[in-house]
Amino acid sequence: MHHDPALDLEKTFRSSAPGYWAERGVTPEQWNIHTWQLKNRITSLAQLEEHLNLSEEERSGVILSGTKLAMAITPHFFNLIDQDDPECPIRRQIIPRIEETWTSPYEMSDPCGEDSHMPVPGLVHRYPDRVLFLVTDRCAAYCRYCTRSRVVSGAGEQELETDYEAAFRYLEEHTEVRDVLLSGGDPLLFSDGKLEKILSRLRQIEHIEFLRIGSRIPVFLPQRITPALCEMLQKYHPLFMSVHVNHPRELTIEVKEGLERLANHGIPLGNQSVFLRGVNDSVEVMKALVQKLLMCRVKPYYLYQLDLIEGSSHLQAPVAKGIEVIEGLRGHTTGYAIPQYVIDAPGGGGKVPVNPDYVLQRNEERVVIRNFEGRTFEYPEPAVQPDPILDY
Ligand SMILES: *Cc1c(COP(=O)(O)O)cnc(C)c1O
Repeated sequence: MHHDPALDLEKTFRSSAPGYWAERGVTPEQWNIHTWQLKNRITSLAQLEEHLNLSEEERSGVILSGTKLAMAITPHFFNLIDQDDPECPIRRQIIPRIEETWTSPYEMSDPCGEDSHMPVPGLVHRYPDRVLFLVTDRCAAYCRYCTRSRVVSGAGEQELETDYEAAFRYLEEHTEVRDVLLSGGDPLLFSDGKLEKILSRLRQIEHIEFLRIGSRIPVFLPQRITPALCEMLQKYHPLFMSVHVNHPRELTIEVKEGLERLANHGIPLGNQSVFLRGVNDSVEVMKALVQKLLMCRVKPYYLYQLDLIEGSSHLQAPVAKGIEVIEGLRGHTTGYAIPQYVIDAPGGGGKVPVNPDYVLQRNEERVVIRNFEGRTFEYPEPAVQPDPILDY
């Protein structure tokens, strides 16, 4: 299809209805079933070329993708691609390019050092009170910049061998863990029953206070957000969900409905964007995205600097640009709309916040600050209180 980039900035919610598929006799009923969407994912060069004019970079990328990270695109998400524009922001996220085979000395297969923080296969325990539980290695579609491409999709060099029983035992023994984040892969790819088994088992552990699910399924496969799924999830509160939207065009009518359904079942929603060159590395696009997220009842949570994953050079945007984007949001739009920009420190340091400098000078007497308009102000530090014994 053709997409007008100006409409992306206008924050219009459009439908991703059958489009090309309607010509082939696909009915809206089939389209709205998530299993139909999964069965009809685009996974081959021939399928892509039926609809898109691929560039040389893309064609070679698709041919080579099978050896690293599989290509898979749901028909829903595929419809958001502009068929003629190789620089389309949706295309850059999901269609392999030859640059994925390039490597630089700074790039790694495990950029966040997760493998070295796994006490049990599939469980990453890096922070004191919370863990990342990798429950599956499959997603509805594969982001080309995936930080876990080494284990995800089944095409890479490593396999994710999550040991559920060992993970539950570890969590039972580690009473300091109060927060479990289910991720993968995408946990919502599991059936309701299989996901419920994991959630109910976690809820039996008394010291686990807080559950959350990291998923891009609301964006790749909104048809999966069924009333039955939401009713099951709401039994396990407090349960939050982090979704992954990078560009305003991804927020379609169908996606908005899925997000609203989750919110209506009491699930607070956060968004984790990845900062990507040619996708969302501008104030205009990010502002439209975060405002549109609020309209879907999603709080922008993190903006991630792209991890130094192998083959990501064509999607890397400078940190200076990320800081510029945050500066362009703070004060200029709703505070709730502003994500925390973070770098996941290469090699396993965890997330580090990166902020524009608003404090220009600071000493014991005063702080000099600037506001979003660039005006400077002075804030006096409280005078040191006299010690009642020494200073009488
Ligand atoms: C991101 C992450 C978390 C969660 O971090 P929050 O800042 O609490 O959202 C937990 N564990 C690992 C390994 C992570 O990468």
